[in-house]
Amino acid sequence: MIEIRGVHKSFGSLAVLRDVSLSVPAGSVTVILGPSGSGKSTLLRCINHLEKVDRGTVRVDGELIGYRQDGDKLHELPERLVLKQRAGIGFVFQTFNLFPHMTALENVNEARGPRDALQLLDRVGLAGKAHAYPRQLSGGQQQRVAIARALALDPKLVLFDEPTSALDPELVGEVLDVMRDLARAGTTMVVVTHEIGFAREVADTVVFLDGGRIVEQGPPAEVLDNPQHERTRAFLSKVL
Ligand code: ATP
Ligand code: MG
Repeated sequence: MIEIRGVHKSFGSLAVLRDVSLSVPAGSVTVILGPSGSGKSTLLRCINHLEKVDRGTVRVDGELIGYRQDGDKLHELPERLVLKQRAGIGFVFQTFNLFPHMTALENVNEARGPRDALQLLDRVGLAGKAHAYPRQLSGGQQQRVAIARALALDPKLVLFDEPTSALDPELVGEVLDVMRDLARAGTTMVVVTHEIGFAREVADTVVFLDGGRIVEQGPPAEVLDNPQHERTRAFLSKVL
């Protein structure tokens, strides 16, 4: 589903991703862990071309993201085609990013996707809040609306960037429950999170990123319970 090959990304002289390669099979859940500044958000943003890679390629379903290949040359795609590619990739942000002047239903409808907005709200357990405005919803409810909105375009995959880290602890569970249901339904997901319990239970693959490199990747039982690298161990000892 996602094939990332040899991706490098710098901001000025700061190398943020160094030779990152990663395969995400269709229907799988990949959790990305790593310290602050290790490049997790940048990696997600490279997948849907919110950031341009300096080197390397990202393919989704075999399709090169952001570029058209001509022999061994890459040409940037026009914005209109980038937007079309991006529409096939759901993105859930830490800070929900709902429109404050629109109800839950209008926020989901706003994506103008093929999916029925009320059904999607029902799927995240919020059919009863369809006409509430974001300020009338808890953080956990707002994030569930944001997830429903991400699903409206019937995406091939959904990227989550720390979807629960802005929530009060008692609201984290309801959002993770929705994500767990999506995973069970076979949604391809890449999730940046520090929720190790979620990673252990739901992830097929856990990736540990440090200093812009993938230090270690594998099933949760390996990376979380039997890490091979000192840096992974040091990180886990802080978050566990
Ligand atoms: P966190 O856990 O704090 O969210 P992260 O692993 O998501 O961290 P990134 O947001 O990917 O890290 O940032 C990686 C590095 O790149 C950081 O040093 C950050 O300051 C820098 N960076 C990110 N975006 C930009 C940008 N647009 N311009 C310049 N530097 C940036
Ligand atoms: Mg981040």
